[in-house]
Amino acid sequence: MKNQDPRIGFVSLGCPKALVDSELILTRLRAEGYAISPSYDGADLVIVNTCGFIDSAVKESLDAIGEALEENGRVIVTGCLGSRSAEVRAAHPEVLAVTGPHAYEEVMSAVHQELPAPHDPFTDLVPPQGVKLTPRHYAYLKISEGCNHRCTFCIIPQLRGDLVSRPIGEVMREAENLVAAGVRELLIIAQDTSAYGVDLGYRTDFWGGRPLETRLRSLAAALGELGVWVRLHYIYPYPHVDDIIPLMADGKLLPYLDVPLQHGSPRILKAMRRPAAAEKALERIARWREICPEIALRSTFIVGFPGETEAEFEQLLEFLREARLDRVGCFAYSAVRGAPANALPDPIPETLKEERRERLMELQSAISMEKLAAKVGSEMTVLVDEVGEDAVIARSSADAPEVDGNVVIEGAWELAPGDLLRVEITSSGEHDLWAQPLDVTD
Ligand code: SF4
Repeated sequence: MKNQDPRIGFVSLGCPKALVDSELILTRLRAEGYAISPSYDGADLVIVNTCGFIDSAVKESLDAIGEALEENGRVIVTGCLGSRSAEVRAAHPEVLAVTGPHAYEEVMSAVHQELPAPHDPFTDLVPPQGVKLTPRHYAYLKISEGCNHRCTFCIIPQLRGDLVSRPIGEVMREAENLVAAGVRELLIIAQDTSAYGVDLGYRTDFWGGRPLETRLRSLAAALGELGVWVRLHYIYPYPHVDDIIPLMADGKLLPYLDVPLQHGSPRILKAMRRPAAAEKALERIARWREICPEIALRSTFIVGFPGETEAEFEQLLEFLREARLDRVGCFAYSAVRGAPANALPDPIPETLKEERRERLMELQSAISMEKLAAKVGSEMTVLVDEVGEDAVIARSSADAPEVDGNVVIEGAWELAPGDLLRVEITSSGEHDLWAQPLDVTD
């Protein structure tokens, strides 16, 4: 009888980009015949994929490594915090190996060294779409790694290097496999999605024998042919983004853009060294709405950046009043070790940062409530995420999973996650909508 396959436990922390790294590592492990253990004590060793973005994430990562060591004892560390190997080893000298982000080969060679792969040429354990950590009906698709910008509050380029785009043929094949495996929504991510292909000189690659340029416009158009929801995240307001919006107006892409704007004051944007800081974001937004009136815009902002005056904060509020964005996240500025912004003068006291964050969210809640109330009585298609005994949780094209709102359908319905459904909106709240089903369109 065959011995039990070597078993690996996996802890995945951090952002969607780290999640995709975890999926790639898990896919490789399964391809080589390792089993994945859901518990520490059933595992022969544990891989911890860490986050090192802000101090609280570093602490969470170090705690997770500590817990894995305590519960299992044999731990390999990878991910963003792994690029600060000395820090990890100082806190936990007993870890077996430490590798940085997207270091798949290094992780695999550390695993091989500690736990040789089983050899079973008759078993192909990996589905073509890889192993996914998200529910079966949606998946993140990472189109590039790293970033060419140098925002002063961010250390991602130090951790992950400059932009490296995946050739368009490779991205499309992965997208096709995901769709064939039942994925109904693709969430396109990168550190800077709008820069896709710049590093490759927009090189032509092939998908299904067709030549395609490795650039966002052609990728978006090709993804739009797959017949599933396609949602774009982390887009900067460059003029060339205007070319993508007609695809939304034509129903090829979801009318949704996640544009991390971070501030509304030109001086602060300059101090942050934000990409597209010189672009006139309000004009860009107006142009997008002209081309595709139903577009939903999501953004994130940072308040309390060093030196932010009351007048500059007011400028940000004024920007929000004019932009009337659909979804907004707001963070109080938090110093990231190694980020150039730490050296800027005039740090803002924590209480003031928090007060500004609350004022911003209060304003945005009112905008969000008004915008959602205007949808009552309209009909829309929603994608089912969860089916409970007395309610179904779904999302509209305006809602990305985890970060935006939901459309709640009260009652018990014969539906399954991944179903598409026409509904009529019956009421609205601050972030969510309530609806009645009209018919099932899957
Ligand atoms: S665009 Fe700026 S915030 Fe985003 S990853 Fe690049 S450097 Fe960091």
